[in-house]
This record gives sequence, C-alpha cells and structure tokens, in this order.
Amino acid sequence: MALVELRDICKTFGSVKAADNVSNDNESGEFNTQLGPSGSGKTTVLRIIAGFEEPDSGTVRLNGVDITHLPPFDRDVNTVFQDYALFPHMTVQDNVEYGLRTRKVPKALRAQQAGEAIASVKLEHATDRLPHQLSGGQRQRIALARAMVLRPKVLLLDEPLGALDRQLREEMQVELKNIQRDAGITFIFVTHDQEEAMRMSDRIVIFNEGRVEQVGTPEEVYERPATRFVAGFLGAANIVAGDPARKIFGRTTTVSIRPERMQLQPVSYSAASGEFAVTATVKEAAFVGANTLYVVDTDDGVRLSISRTNTQSPGHDNRFAPGDRVLAVWHDRHIAEIPA
Ligand code: ADP
Ligand code: MG
Repeated sequence: MALVELRDICKTFGSVKAADNVSNDNESGEFNTQLGPSGSGKTTVLRIIAGFEEPDSGTVRLNGVDITHLPPFDRDVNTVFQDYALFPHMTVQDNVEYGLRTRKVPKALRAQQAGEAIASVKLEHATDRLPHQLSGGQRQRIALARAMVLRPKVLLLDEPLGALDRQLREEMQVELKNIQRDAGITFIFVTHDQEEAMRMSDRIVIFNEGRVEQVGTPEEVYERPATRFVAGFLGAANIVAGDPARKIFGRTTTVSIRPERMQLQPVSYSAASGEFAVTATVKEAAFVGANTLYVVDTDDGVRLSISRTNTQSPGHDNRFAPGDRVLAVWHDRHIAEIPA
C-alpha cells in the first residue's frame, strides 16, 4: 500500500484548472519530486496534501486513511516552505523546539530531540544564534530540522532551495538527499528545476497545466518520455513527427532522440551494424566547454541538434564547422517512440 495516495484530485481557481485529475502514489521512504514549469499545479497539489487547501473532488489517503477533509494539524505531514518561516526573535534551538513545545513535550526531552535534529543538519555550533546570524543555506537547514523534529511520516518541501545561489544549492541538494535517506522520512519535493529533480529523486511526477504527464524514475522519464511535453521539458530533444519521422527514422509515431545520443561523422564514414545515418549540412557549431553543440539540417530539411563531448586535447578534436557536409549517425535503440 502506498503511504500517500492521491486519487483524481481536481481543484479550480476561477477559470484555472490548477489540478486536473491528479493521481499518484508515494511509497514509504521515497524521495518523490513534483516537477513542472511555473503554474503547472505543483504547489496546489502539495497544499492539498498538507491540508491548507481542499480539493473540489478527489481523495488524499495517508496510510490508507482518507484525510482529504482533515485540518493540517491533524495530519502526520509537515511542510517546509521556500521562505523558511523561522521565528526571527528565537534562537536556532528555540525555533527547532517550538513544535515540540506546542505538543507539550517535557522540557528535557524537547531539548534532546531538538539537539538531535540540529545535529542531523550539522548545525550544533549554531544553536544559540538568531536566524539573521545564519547564512541562507543554514537557515534552510534549520527550517528542515524544525520540520523533521516532529518526525512526520511525510515531509512536504515546496522549492526549498529556490532562494539559494547555484553553488550552495548544489551542495544542499546532496545534503538534503543524505538527510532524507538517513532519516527514512518520505519526502514530497517540489521544484521547477529538471536537473535538481533528476539528481535527488527516486521518482519524479511531471506536471503540466494541472495534469500529471508521467511518473517514473529519473532514467525512465528521461529515456522513455511518455509525451511530447516530457521529452521537450527534460533536457534537449530532437522531436520528429509525421513524414520526416517516417523518412529519417522509419517510424510512424512521433520519435524523440537526445542530442548526446547522435553522432557527427565525416561523409566517408561507414555505419556499423545497428547504426543509421543521413547526410546533412552543419549550420551551427557552438563550443560550450565540455561539449560542442551542433545544429545540422538533413538533406530532407529536418533540423537536428547533436551534442559532442570534447574528449580530446584542445585542437585535436575532430570538429566540424558551419557549411561542412557530414553524416548524422544514431543507433536505433536510442530512439524513444512517443505514444501521446
Ligand atoms: P506551481 O506551483 O506549479 O507554480 P500553482 O499550483 O501555484 O503552480 O498554480 C497553478 C495555477 O493555479 C496557476 O495558474 C495559479 O495562478 C493558480 N492558482 C494557484 N493558487 C491560486 C489561488 N489561491 N487563487 C487563484 N489562482 C490560484
Ligand atoms: Mg509553486
């Protein structure tokens, strides 16, 4: 049985369908991420799980029990908000103890449990500080400790790393994942950042316009996108449909192939078994450090993006320039057929 079960959740604000028949199962102990562009309904669904919002229809179950209409404080669920929502006049220790105090946990036990939660986010040295004396990353960790000290079955996190700069954000991604794994708490994490979702999640739920487009492991949703939207949203993709799909890839469905799964070769190249190739002309070649990104037009007039890893020493890579005639080469197994 799933720990959190969403069934046919609908929520409308005026004329906007913020959640349109959302169903999903969250397994116990997993890091589950709701990923989608801004406005796709991620926060709405999270708030419905938390109990801050009631759905127009549909059910939320926790451990098999219908909690759809329970108030937030009667759910074994806690939320970490993007703005941290720490009490500015309270020390780190008091901030983390706060929830335990409202639950009337005795003083000594309170201090001990808060101490453990603070240690789990590695901020033992900062227990007497006030929030404004902490960095953004430290405040984020305290917000996390404050939610985890209550030992909820499920922790909901709405873009908790959104306010951090890139480097800190990447450090926190690793740390947050470790904390989740060690504590064994189920995380439902919201982000609009594809790389963040792929890096951290056991499973990703991809939202678009209030609907769930696909649910799967990072690899599944990347390698086998179920819809055109998913193929285009998760990294770069060559999406080819109709006549060109039939001519070039021999498929009657829409196909998607990632730029890094295609190769560029000189026209003299002879394809190995299982490989396919079309002649093309290089239109653009952009050096971006680790890779060179090419745009080529096939002789049938189909534009393809091809990424080439720069593995050789500078000057020794077999690079191509705009105007060069080339072969665009791929292996059939790297083509994903998009059913929808
Ligand atoms: P996300 O978190 O993916 O950015 P939201 O769930 O916040 O998306 O919003 C989904 C849609 O619902 C958006 O179009 C948003 O403007 C609308 N919406 C969300 N909350 C409200 C509200 N309280 N009142 C009116 N519209 C809302
Ligand atoms: Mg949001």
